[in-house]
Amino acid sequence: MGKRIAFISEHASPLAALGGADAGGQNVYVGEVARQLAMMDYQIDIFTRREEKKLPKVVPFGDKIRIIHVNAGPAEDIPKETLLQYMPAFKEDMLRFMKEEQITYELIHANFFMSALVAMELKKELGIPFVVTFHALGHIRRIHQGDNDQFPKERITIEENAVKEASMIIAECPQDREDLMTYYKASAEKITVIPCGVNVEELYPVNKSIARSLLGLPYDEKVLLQLGRMVPRKGVDNVIMALAKVKCKHSKVRLLIVGGDVDTAKELTRLKLLAAELRVSDKVYFLGQKSREDLKYYYTAADLFITTPWYEPFGITPLEAMACGTPVIGSKVGGIKYSVADGHSGALVPPKDPDALAHKITTLLQAPALLREMGNNALRRVNKLFTWELVARDMQAVYEGIIGNNDTSSPRNFRAEESISL
Ligand code: UDP
Repeated sequence: MGKRIAFISEHASPLAALGGADAGGQNVYVGEVARQLAMMDYQIDIFTRREEKKLPKVVPFGDKIRIIHVNAGPAEDIPKETLLQYMPAFKEDMLRFMKEEQITYELIHANFFMSALVAMELKKELGIPFVVTFHALGHIRRIHQGDNDQFPKERITIEENAVKEASMIIAECPQDREDLMTYYKASAEKITVIPCGVNVEELYPVNKSIARSLLGLPYDEKVLLQLGRMVPRKGVDNVIMALAKVKCKHSKVRLLIVGGDVDTAKELTRLKLLAAELRVSDKVYFLGQKSREDLKYYYTAADLFITTPWYEPFGITPLEAMACGTPVIGSKVGGIKYSVADGHSGALVPPKDPDALAHKITTLLQAPALLREMGNNALRRVNKLFTWELVARDMQAVYEGIIGNNDTSSPRNFRAEESISL
């Protein structure tokens, strides 16, 4: 029987619909890393907060993986900014479950700062070591969001303690590593850089014409795609502003915006008003959330995938676009400046700069041969560096360094951006 590992992901369940306010990359990460580790014979229990009354306590999630719905706070969808108060109940319910099942774990993998808090408590009570992936850091959020950051101020202290208590911290990119060292005084030896990945069995190139016809898109227009959670920091407004400035001589250009649900109605209204003000409403299509099975059609149908957040702890969507052979224009921040090779698999632009973005879009749309080459490079790059299988192998090396088998190969440990040029 394989080793038992507990994942804690308090607000992000792999079962959630993605693309609203709070469900996105972390949900994908937890589910995909667990799936790969289960194939390596680990037994994974993923603890996540119950957000619906009718959900069963335990839901099998493929072979050797269970999702455990933890009773902590109201059994409904509530903003992650309000969840800290329920973490003591979260820990108690986890302990109850372990007692009832008469099981323990060799290691806990905490995701996000509130899960790290629970992991620290469990370490104190049961002596179980933990690793942590923060997914986002309170300090960085404060810098960019200022007073709009609604997380409790204790977040930063919790993160500082978790940095001290964790056996290993998983940074998602060199920028994340640098931020952990600068703002949290984390020691270099305690950080392993393991990027996010992409599921290449779910996201792969399909025939562009077929994708367009399935989605009812014209063949003779240039298509730009923006896909993700609809929150201000993702800079979707920047893409709409750029679209209004794009001058494409020979064809019309449209922008598809995928993502957004009732919880993000305010942001969607703001974006629609902006499109109307800039007189591009007829070129911007708000399509709402899309299921995982449909994403490959959207990514492949697009000539360019665009994502220009203010900051980005990693950003899985650029990998997904690249896995479908679509070049990416992304902002030169965080994980994007690491995953997108500028001039090779796409281009990097400064965030919050619609002129620079418009210029880049115009240049690339007018160079179809270059776009095709970038698309091919993107596909190769992702398959070589960013699959979940590679991520899980690195994760296994980290786990085994803590709980036993030191024969496992070392993680790739990307220490510098140069090390991933392809
Ligand atoms: N996503 C999705 N459907 C949507 C919108 C988004 O499945 O309608 C997924 C998207 O494919 C990606 C994730 O949500 O896997 C967003 O992850 P990313 O790391 O880019 O951003 P985060 O949510 O972590 O800020």
